[in-house]
Amino acid sequence: MKTLGLYIHIPFCKSKCRYCDFCSFPHPKTETVKKYISALISEIEEYGRAYGEYTVNTVYFGGGTPTLLDAQHLTEILKAVKASFSLSGDAEITTECNPATGGFDYFKALLSGGFNRLSIGVQSMNDRELKLLGRLHSAEDAKSTLREARKAGFENVSVDVMFGIPEQTPQSLAQTLDEVCSLSPEHLSLYGLKIEEGTHFARHADSLILPDEDTEYEMYLSSVKKLAEFGLERYEISNFAKKGFTSRHNLKYWHREDYLGLGIAAHSCVGNRRFANTCDIEKYLKGDRIDTNETISPHDILCEKIMLGMRLEEGADFDLLQEETNEDTAKYKNALERYVSCGYAKKEGGRIAFLSNGMYVSNSILSEILDFEK
Ligand code: SF4
Repeated sequence: MKTLGLYIHIPFCKSKCRYCDFCSFPHPKTETVKKYISALISEIEEYGRAYGEYTVNTVYFGGGTPTLLDAQHLTEILKAVKASFSLSGDAEITTECNPATGGFDYFKALLSGGFNRLSIGVQSMNDRELKLLGRLHSAEDAKSTLREARKAGFENVSVDVMFGIPEQTPQSLAQTLDEVCSLSPEHLSLYGLKIEEGTHFARHADSLILPDEDTEYEMYLSSVKKLAEFGLERYEISNFAKKGFTSRHNLKYWHREDYLGLGIAAHSCVGNRRFANTCDIEKYLKGDRIDTNETISPHDILCEKIMLGMRLEEGADFDLLQEETNEDTAKYKNALERYVSCGYAKKEGGRIAFLSNGMYVSNSILSEILDFEK
């Protein structure tokens, strides 16, 4: 059976956070939202016809803030997915949700519409840090959103937390994690803040009081330890889960399995093809969607698989990769073995995985080793 993950992008937000470079539009007009939903449904129907032989086993609504839409609109989009694709009975169906954009009735409606997983953008449980990030919610909003989701019946809840926030200290991050974990999420994503071009933070970089590199590293390592104490084990650099609650959708990205991205700015990867939608909403609404479309060489597929696999706690199995891709993996395996001998990685049979210290600097290690053709 050929399986597929679907990512659906909802690009609207209440306002723009200071660090955000995602494709998201604050204060959307009702008319634009309506047109967007209808363009999205057309795209779902079109892809349903083109990928009819696949079974969809994960659906992920991201943004933006999907829960800025009425629950009825989100379930209408999901209905279109069900009508257009063959959706497996045990599909993982997630929506991202920002605190204070959904309550008990809203979550009930999502559950009865078919959603079974929530990913809540908590970011911090410190009101000062939330304000500095430009988030609209408070720590109390985050807590009550999580409680309401539970009360409504969601049994699979993930939260996003950030580290490296301006003025954040190891102590305030530890407090955030204690408070978040006391609400028993099944999954937690821990992202380091990056100052991205074009954001409010980039324009005001000189005035930001950011933790230095050593403090950030300390924050990451102590968070990994703390989360394990709460039963949240790391399975990817930034992702932690209780047993049985890893994100099936995100694992598709890291295993380089097939997925389609629908909606503005969404990316797809099917076999040796990668394609992406335009970031221009006017073009998207007119149906002029595809922005880039490329065929990936077998060599680059191997490099991608190594790059993505090495993000995972389980690492990459070089014997298996050689079999799957028919490409010679020895060069990369040998290069990574050097990091095994200096204590940054471990090796078991054909599999090599980074240890915590290696994982933290994995991007720079891999960019030296991998030689993409494109
Ligand atoms: S809520 Fe998320 S997508 Fe929207 S502006 Fe903030 S960070 Fe960006």
